[in-house]
Amino acid sequence: MAILRVGPVEIARVEELRIPNTISYFTSDETLIERNRSWLAPHFLNEDNRFDLVFQSFVFEVEGKVVLVDPCTGNGKPHPVPQFDMLDVPWLERLDAAGYRREDIDIVMCTHLHHDHCGWNTMLRDGRWVPTFPNARYVMSRTEIERWDPRRPGHHPVSYNVDVFERSVLPVIEAGLVEVHDGSLHLGECLEVLPAPGHTLGHCWLQVMADDACALFSGDTFHHPLQLVDPTMQFGGGDDLALATASRQRLIELAALRDALIIPAHLPWPHGLKVRLEHGHPVFTAGSGT
Ligand SMILES: [Zn+2]
Repeated sequence: MAILRVGPVEIARVEELRIPNTISYFTSDETLIERNRSWLAPHFLNEDNRFDLVFQSFVFEVEGKVVLVDPCTGNGKPHPVPQFDMLDVPWLERLDAAGYRREDIDIVMCTHLHHDHCGWNTMLRDGRWVPTFPNARYVMSRTEIERWDPRRPGHHPVSYNVDVFERSVLPVIEAGLVEVHDGSLHLGECLEVLPAPGHTLGHCWLQVMADDACALFSGDTFHHPLQLVDPTMQFGGGDDLALATASRQRLIELAALRDALIIPAHLPWPHGLKVRLEHGHPVFTAGSGT
């Protein structure tokens, strides 16, 4: 079931849903698109300039711990966007098919607390939202928790994330399962949380290092790889667009330095990409292993 490979670490993928998208939401720069078509095609960009935004989680075992990254939107949760509203998706069954039961998960890493990155934190039982992964440490940034807590003065709500804190975050905090960090956290020899603010104020990456191989789970730092070719390219909203641009730039530098496989949250097959610097200029390739 492994889809991606980082040294000895096999990474499985648990898909929730996919939504067709078009590159015109990102850029109208035909020259830029054509210059990059050869490495983007066919899955990151088809001949109609379309691609799928995939909503998926990643799960893997390292140092004897089972790690789940970005647990999607979850079932039975109201949402203003129809594609996410009151989902009834066999995501837990797919997790099972990938070889993991929900009781097996030791670490849940939410890169940020948008609805599609923390939804399966909880599930509905007898009318209450309860932790889906009863044996897990849920790893979350303090800045991110404070950003989305509607009880805080000056809270800035966004329509697509209303009630997400109450349904998908507060129940795991109240169950005592959340490990709060200040942007950086070592979760073991191989696992490190790194701050990457912008898309949201407390957005983070998860770095996996094993046998000199490296993967960077980059969450929503970018939604399409062209945003790394031009880090100023925005998609949708975000908490701080200047910080988001800076984080994309930093991701390129770090991934090139470490020869890392970048694994963003929403990329279709082959789900990852690599970057190397040639005469100081980044050169990208699509891939699923390192
Ligand atoms: Zn997302």
